[in-house]
Amino acid sequence: MPVPVRLLIHGASGRMGQALLRLCGERDDCTIVAAVSRHPAQRVADGVPWFAAGELSGVPEFDVAVDFSLPEAFDGILALCAQRGRPLVSGTTGLSDAQRAALDAAATRIPVLWASNFSLGVAVLHELVERAAAALRGWDCDIVESHHVHKKDAPSGTALTLGAAAQRGGAAPRYASLRAGDIVGEHLVQFTGPGERIELVHRAGNRDIFARGALHAAVRLHGRAPGLYRVRDLLD
Ligand code: NAD
Repeated sequence: MPVPVRLLIHGASGRMGQALLRLCGERDDCTIVAAVSRHPAQRVADGVPWFAAGELSGVPEFDVAVDFSLPEAFDGILALCAQRGRPLVSGTTGLSDAQRAALDAAATRIPVLWASNFSLGVAVLHELVERAAAALRGWDCDIVESHHVHKKDAPSGTALTLGAAAQRGGAAPRYASLRAGDIVGEHLVQFTGPGERIELVHRAGNRDIFARGALHAAVRLHGRAPGLYRVRDLLD
């Protein structure tokens, strides 16, 4: 059996971090060697050492870092990966233009995969949206995203990357954001023409779809050459 890929989970105490910890425990191709959060409640849990944000430089050796944190935490994990020469898988949304540029620059030295959404369904939705936009020239394009009330950024990262796909197809998307209850994530891309309308919608039922996709990507990114990767590069 291959040696499990050693993961560092950044943002481990969060909603996504908790899903990553649980789902990694069900796999034999990865293992968690460090968990990092802003203020860890414990030093060791289930055999995994926890570290605070300020202790990043002291984390043990790892093969790939998986980051689902917040923009203010992102620079630290990117710097650690660049310094240690380790790949970074990140799903943190709301990054600034400077942070996206730093990610691109780091990709010359380490493998990097940033995705606004790690679900298979949304990967396919991007392709459908681009095709629909190209076929429906002159139609209105509106992207409506709904998330739980704790989500900080708006429009969501997924709405923006769906918008980029619509733009590649020639549309000029507009955005609307709803924050309500405990909605995990819904994205509606609506094309409206004279007398008719197409709605393409993705509904996430739980966070496990994102966590599974990120773990799969992390295992597949291990050992790759430096560069910028996309979810679909690592799907099979
Ligand atoms: P959350 O608020 O529940 O968790 C945030 C985590 O970041 C916590 O563990 C917190 O301790 C940690 N953190 C905050 N500040 C920190 C710091 N300075 N240093 C180190 N750690 C710090 O958030 P969540 O719902 O788990 O979402 C996390 C991120 O993932 C968000 O940006 C969200 O939009 C994104 N997300 C992406 C996808 C995807 O598929 N790409 C899916 C869901 C969520």
